[in-house]
Amino acid sequence: MNKRHISKKQALKNRTKRLVLFIVILGVVIYGPIKFKHIKLNKSQAVASERFSSELESIQEFKEIKKSIDNLYGDEDKINSIKKSIANIQSKLNDNITEELKNEISDLYAKINEISAENERDLEAYSNKINSEDLKGFNDEEIGKVNEITNSYTDLFKEKNYIDAREKLKELESYVQDIKKEANTRRIKEVYDEASNEDPSTREPKVVKGILIVNKEYGLPDTYAPGESEEARQAFENMKVDASKEGIYLNAFSTYRNYWAQNRLYNNYVANYGQDPTDTFSARAGFSEHQTGLAFDIGGADRSLWAMEDFKYTDEAKWLKENAYKYGFILRYPEGKEWKTGYMHESWHFRYVGVEHSENFKDSDLTLEEYLGL
Ligand SMILES: [Zn+2]
Repeated sequence: MNKRHISKKQALKNRTKRLVLFIVILGVVIYGPIKFKHIKLNKSQAVASERFSSELESIQEFKEIKKSIDNLYGDEDKINSIKKSIANIQSKLNDNITEELKNEISDLYAKINEISAENERDLEAYSNKINSEDLKGFNDEEIGKVNEITNSYTDLFKEKNYIDAREKLKELESYVQDIKKEANTRRIKEVYDEASNEDPSTREPKVVKGILIVNKEYGLPDTYAPGESEEARQAFENMKVDASKEGIYLNAFSTYRNYWAQNRLYNNYVANYGQDPTDTFSARAGFSEHQTGLAFDIGGADRSLWAMEDFKYTDEAKWLKENAYKYGFILRYPEGKEWKTGYMHESWHFRYVGVEHSENFKDSDLTLEEYLGL
């Protein structure tokens, strides 16, 4: 073999080796930093995006806080302090979002959620209270209106607009209260016409909780004629004595009236005023409380005010309103309860029910119908 030829071959081999080494070194020198830079870049990007997403979350929460606060209600100081915090955070948001600011937002977010939950519980309780109202006697149109307001309320609740939702419930409550009165007034008129057209000899006295109830729904037979109740008279006399010690003069100017006396009285009124107006202040025969012997029309020193609307302004009427319950008497037709009793307010008409019952009427405008659940 040619030595020179071998060495030439050897030289080529060595050169190739060097070239490969060079390339490898070059590769490491060039590629290494690229690779390393790449890893570094990815890492910092991840940190940045993490920071960015947590900032985004804070901003999102803050947006929700701002949106919610105008739809929530509650303690005014609490709400105002949250509004102040919102303004404060808003002013700081132009700078970097610091950890401190993020915490502030997150605290506020928790507070808002708590108030939201409170509002929801409160509204649900309120709505349940209204729903428990009896819609007896409401006509289709009135039921339709109730449903309409209820649906608006449900929408507002779903939208988390609690302030407006509460306003809707208030609207619903007042509508139901108004219609309840109208419906009961309609109902009383109907049952009154029906009951008073029945044969009076077949009627049975209605007693609830031991109390004889006489109103436009429950009448008495024409034969029911007990005379003035002795117990009620005694109670009245006791009341009269006590009142006089306070300079109050009381006179029971009309108590027991039998069926036929009431019949004459009522028909006289109808002849003078017409039936509908008469029905607001005088009972048809068989439907007067005076027939029970337990009703006392009480006046004061000024006779001209007996059974008159203006009697209510007298010291005697005020004394009676405050004290009659102590003697077993109740104000039978309170002001504002015409829809329940079927009669205009009579500041002079008292009904004896006994102290054990009358004590429940202290300082209230409760009607006997309400007391007996009728
Ligand atoms: Zn009377």
